[in-house]
This record gives sequence, structure tokens and C-alpha cells, in this order.
Amino acid sequence: MKQLGIYCVIVWGMLVSQTTTAASLTTAHQPPQAPAELYIIIDDMGYRATDERAFALPESVTFSILPHTPQGQAFAERAHAQSRDVMLHLPMEAQSNKPLGPGAITSSMYANEITATFEAALASVPYAIGVNNHMGSVLTASGQALQPLMNVIKHTGLFFVDSRTTRFTVAQQVAREKQIPNARRHVFLDHEQTEAFMNEQWQRAMALTRKHSKVIIIAHPHPGTIEFLQNKLADLPAQHYALKSMHDYFDKPVVPQREYANSAQASAAAPN
Ligand SMILES: [Zn+2]
Repeated sequence: MKQLGIYCVIVWGMLVSQTTTAASLTTAHQPPQAPAELYIIIDDMGYRATDERAFALPESVTFSILPHTPQGQAFAERAHAQSRDVMLHLPMEAQSNKPLGPGAITSSMYANEITATFEAALASVPYAIGVNNHMGSVLTASGQALQPLMNVIKHTGLFFVDSRTTRFTVAQQVAREKQIPNARRHVFLDHEQTEAFMNEQWQRAMALTRKHSKVIIIAHPHPGTIEFLQNKLADLPAQHYALKSMHDYFDKPVVPQREYANSAQASAAAPN
């Protein structure tokens, strides 16, 4: 009987220690309350028919399309038909001498020219619900030059994502001051086209989810990038990360006033 008692104490002790170990393990590896939200924007879309390969990515990956491009409208329509978010990838003045392409906004433009250029660009990318800058290291660093552009963005009801092509950017700050729904890019995935580099950037994005509950990644429709993302997204542990569309980023739904872009032309064309 005494031996049985001792045996019971030993077994009880083992159970307690096992339970404690299991409990401390659970604490150490406890998953976050809600999965961190990942947002992926594929931008620079529209010039090449081969950019079409990006459609192989999940529909929650957002496409940002350059204005007045050969494939732009067709891509926007196809993306919208899939319920995929579409954004306008608006060229802005940069320090580099690379051509900005049509629809670019520069600091030497007058306000009415900026409004007209923006509206024409927006009309060329149907269903856009937001805008991010293509290049823009000069324009986004000038609070003054950004004023007329942000005014027209506000009127159209789009959200703004600062691509952050310069560390001197004030674009998100100006958008915030004007109460435009706004966000910033956290990680560029593929400005070096190697798997090792993309892996490094991907790990950076994952690490940032510990600091920010929402992390925005910008990437491009290169074949290597698409393949890389297909693999990563297929293995994304659902309990830790949720891939979201850009419209989910904002607490309130973003409702663009699409008629704004064409209303002036429409009323001018139809005086009655
Ligand atoms: Zn770009």
C-alpha cells in the first residue's frame, strides 16, 4: 500500500512536470492572436503582354497598372472580372533620367495640368480604387509640389500608397493631412532578380509582421518573381499570415467616385 502511494506520487509528479513543460512550450511558441496581414501589390503592369503571367497569382494580390499603356485597360478589366483589386501606378518626377512614360506628374506643372493629367491617367485604368507612385523621388519629396496632386486624389476618393522610392518622401504625410486613406510600402521584393535576394526580402517582410500587423510588399511581373510568389504563397502558414486585398487594408471601404474623372467631359459634351 505504501509502495502504491509512493508510485502514485511519482506518477502524479511526472504528469505535473509534463503538463508544465507542455504549457511553457505553448507560451513560447504561441501564435499571434490574429494572423498578420500581408498585402502584395504587383506594379509596373501594362506595357508587356507577358505581364499577363501575374494573373497566375491568387486574386487577393493587387495589380497596379501604368496609365495609357497597351495592355493597361484589358488587364484592369480582366482583374476586375476576377474581383482582383486594381490600382493606378502613377508616374511621378524622379531624379533618374529614365523616361517616366505617359501620364507623369512633374513639379513644373500647373495645378490644372496636374488635375487633367491625373484624370486622363485614371480614366485609362478602369476600376482603379487606389494609386501608388511609379518612381517619384523628386515629386514625393516636395510637400508643395504634392498639394495639387493630393487634392485631385482626394476628390476622386482613391486611397494612396506611398511606394517610398526615396527616404525623403513626404507623400504619405501629405495624404494624411488631407485625410486621404493612406498606407506605405514596407518591402520591395525583387529589385534584384535573384532567388537569394527575394528570399532575404521575404524574410524581412515576415519579420516586420512582428512590429506591424499589416505589411505591404511591392513586386513586379518578372517571371522569376511570379514563380517565387506562387511557391511562397502556397506554403503560407494560414495561422500566422493572411494574404489580403488592398481594399481590406482600410477599416472603412474605399469608394472611388469614378464619375468624377469623366463628369467634366460628359457635361461638356452634353450641354442639356
Ligand atoms: Zn513602378
